[in-house]
Amino acid sequence: MIQEAMVNAFVEGAVELDEETSALIARRKRLLGPAYRLMYERPLHFTRGEGVWLYDSEGNAYLDAYNNVTSIGHCHPKVVRAIREQVGTLATNTRYLHGAVLDYAERLLATMPPEIGHLMFTCTGSDANDLAVRIAQSYTGGKGIIVTETAYHGITQAVSEFSPSLGPNVDLGVHVRTVPAPDSYRSADVAGEFTAAVEAAIRDLKRHGIKPALFICDGIFASDGVFDGPPGLIRGAVAAIRATGGVYIADEVQSGFGRTGEAMWGFQRHGVVPDIVTMGKPMGNGYPVAGVAARPEVLEEFGRKSRYFNTFGGNAVAVAAASAVLDAIEDEGLLANAVEVGAYLKAEFRALAAEYPVIGDIRGAGLFLGVEIVSDPVAKTPDAMTATRIINGLRDENVLISGCARAANVLKIRPPLVFSRKDAAEMIAKLALVLSRLA
Ligand code: PMP
Repeated sequence: MIQEAMVNAFVEGAVELDEETSALIARRKRLLGPAYRLMYERPLHFTRGEGVWLYDSEGNAYLDAYNNVTSIGHCHPKVVRAIREQVGTLATNTRYLHGAVLDYAERLLATMPPEIGHLMFTCTGSDANDLAVRIAQSYTGGKGIIVTETAYHGITQAVSEFSPSLGPNVDLGVHVRTVPAPDSYRSADVAGEFTAAVEAAIRDLKRHGIKPALFICDGIFASDGVFDGPPGLIRGAVAAIRATGGVYIADEVQSGFGRTGEAMWGFQRHGVVPDIVTMGKPMGNGYPVAGVAARPEVLEEFGRKSRYFNTFGGNAVAVAAASAVLDAIEDEGLLANAVEVGAYLKAEFRALAAEYPVIGDIRGAGLFLGVEIVSDPVAKTPDAMTATRIINGLRDENVLISGCARAANVLKIRPPLVFSRKDAAEMIAKLALVLSRLA
């Protein structure tokens, strides 16, 4: 049997489904082929979204506490209007002069530390990481890559080779070394251990004649199990990769655009300035737009040697969508909302943990939260089965979350940044109900 790498993946035949759902699944499999996965024991079929709500084909409303692409809310009117107006006016690419792409780059770069001076456009996060690796390898002259052991960075040939969360059937590159995620739940000196692991990976690459090029991590270690801290956690690892001539790539596809609350970017929580930053998902609130920001000196040689053109990356419509997203983040005070509602959720999770010992740990920053489910809170034994029951129990109560981590036992909670305290209270009430039914 092929091992299922995706947490919370639908398993055919596990539960009985209605006729319409079964027919859609069969048709999908016939047409899209065998590589796709669906979420939940009973897959969902949505036809409409608005704000924090998704509606299924029968008009039932689901509270979305999971989708971070539509990060400022489903079908945000500002983004919809911007896309509609731009696609009806001009839809060209970066081979022509266009002021809006420059205005956007200026604005986006102003949210980053001053050392980061250029922004390049791609269409997806995978595309951004693929480009970032080419740039890093060109700058450093090395090939070696260090990632966390359940990291996900994307799907291109090069990027899948350092996305271990794709599972044991997808080979890692011979130039790739994995390090354990910085597990603050189980380690007393998580920063020290993480630094030591990255240093050991650097030594091992060198021992095999591979020059280290880069250390890449997602700003909140999302697929590793949501590890937010302590602040400064990755500083030692970044110093180690730089000391050997490599660079640090901050993958902000998950943690960027205000997701972690206090700052626009996840890496800012750790007080480090990356050499390269990749971004995507929430950048266009559903319109495909992604990017790579870099220090000019890191990009210099790459730019001299290779030309870059990405047909859809940074096209006029993408930039219009992305600008509207920045407007909404600023105008609606979404970072502050993420801080406030995130803190409220954490406090409520803690209150539930006092009652339900299956909740072993509560982590995260802003509106990216992880709740670790364990069978024994003293031994901290991961309990994937119970996590799966909670995720599907919530789905049956019309609340959407999912799971992550190597042991598939961490609830991944990542609502749109417009999630209100009232929405959060509703989610907590449903979670309490699901937990009460577990026993
Ligand atoms: N990096 C991270 C941290 C991600 O979570 C993802 C997508 N889940 C990607 C990169 C790849 O992005 P995309 O699916 O847009 O290619």
